[in-house]
Amino acid sequence: MRNVLVVLSGPSGVGKGTIAKLLVERNESLSLSISCTTRMPRDGEIDGREYFFINKNEFVSKMQNDGFLEHSEHFENYYGTPKQFVLNKLVTNDVLLEIDVNGGLEVKKNYKDAVLIMILPPSVEEVKRRLIKRGTESEEKINLRMQRIDYELGKSNLYDYTVVNDDLLTAVKDVENIIKLEKTNNS
Ligand code: 5GP
Repeated sequence: MRNVLVVLSGPSGVGKGTIAKLLVERNESLSLSISCTTRMPRDGEIDGREYFFINKNEFVSKMQNDGFLEHSEHFENYYGTPKQFVLNKLVTNDVLLEIDVNGGLEVKKNYKDAVLIMILPPSVEEVKRRLIKRGTESEEKINLRMQRIDYELGKSNLYDYTVVNDDLLTAVKDVENIIKLEKTNNS
């Protein structure tokens, strides 16, 4: 069996963070990658746990040294998947990346065996409800995120799998089954 690099994407508020957390809790062999970002930590976030929080100069220098598997800009901040960090983890573990759609497609270009899974909402209204409920964003930012939803959903056909997050545990099990299948494929 091979270790797989799994990319979990989907619109903000779709619940992919919760799914990722449960997947890692339920599967010892699955390790969550940690992205670098230039945005400020939110309340409760810890450097090296949710993200590696670095400044723009550090980010650009890492970028110039081919240090990212993919990187992009969201809401005026940079985000990137640290390449060596992921490749090191893949030696012993399956690795889960929770990144946006463009990032996922970029990873696939650089690492063709990556398995791309898009988490879909049962409805767009439900996503908005979840975003507002989370309460960490201003109304303007919520609107920006809403605009992005259509864009991201439009790319779902480029992903290897789609999973609808209607019932949380069902969605988690669906992803687990995909990982099991992919581990035995091409091994
Ligand atoms: P947030 O600031 O809410 O944590 O994340 C904002 C967006 O950045 C989310 O859509 C999240 O999935 C995305 N993101 C987080 N880490 C990465 C990364 O390493 N690369 C890319 N391309 N997007 C990321």
